[in-house]
Amino acid sequence: MPVTVYPWQQAQWQELLQRRAALPHALLFRGREGTGKLDFVRKLAQSLACPTPVANAACGECQSCRWFAAGAHPDYRELIPEALQPAEAEATVAGERKPSQQISVHEIRSLHDFINLTAHARLVLTDSGGVQEETTVLGIPCISLRDTTERPVTVTEGTNRLAGTGRAQILAAFAASSTGRAASVPRFWDGRAAERIEQTLVDIFQPGGLDPPPQEHV
Ligand SMILES: [Zn+2]
Repeated sequence: MPVTVYPWQQAQWQELLQRRAALPHALLFRGREGTGKLDFVRKLAQSLACPTPVANAACGECQSCRWFAAGAHPDYRELIPEALQPAEAEATVAGERKPSQQISVHEIRSLHDFINLTAHARLVLTDSGGVQEETTVLGIPCISLRDTTERPVTVTEGTNRLAGTGRAQILAAFAASSTGRAASVPRFWDGRAAERIEQTLVDIFQPGGLDPPPQEHV
């Protein structure tokens, strides 16, 4: 059954799902406590990852959706403050320290470990779109166990090979990967997007366009 959200979230839900092909890289959700924001965000992530959405929402039936249900989707990492983790919140009720409202360094490290695993692999077999991108950036050979990819540049320029799910094709891709081939990191995949955005904004607004910022913010 396709996932759905609370009735009071429907307007935002439909709007975001209709824009699913062109969403920005980051979204910030805010609203009143107890309105189900975290649940909304998780369902949106599931919908964006679902390869067979129904009316743009997660189908609830496919492999990707089953991984979400099991809390084991390879592309999904949830970093969450202690205060929102049920076990921590209960421990605190018992009279211990106050749970942190911040995402801890420990959680960031767990993310780092995941990237580290990819960085030190000789070859990666995956059906994760995010991992196809990471291996291309890191220059690690990648075999995608899929027939199509929504990241074609990882195949045309990067280290990714599409092998489908047939045994013979996967073995052929494995043999081809071990001989190596010229691969490059696509243009602009250099981790400097923020600097370019900053420069572009400066170029747009600098020539007498905007008032200088207040002194205390300089
Ligand atoms: Zn699905």
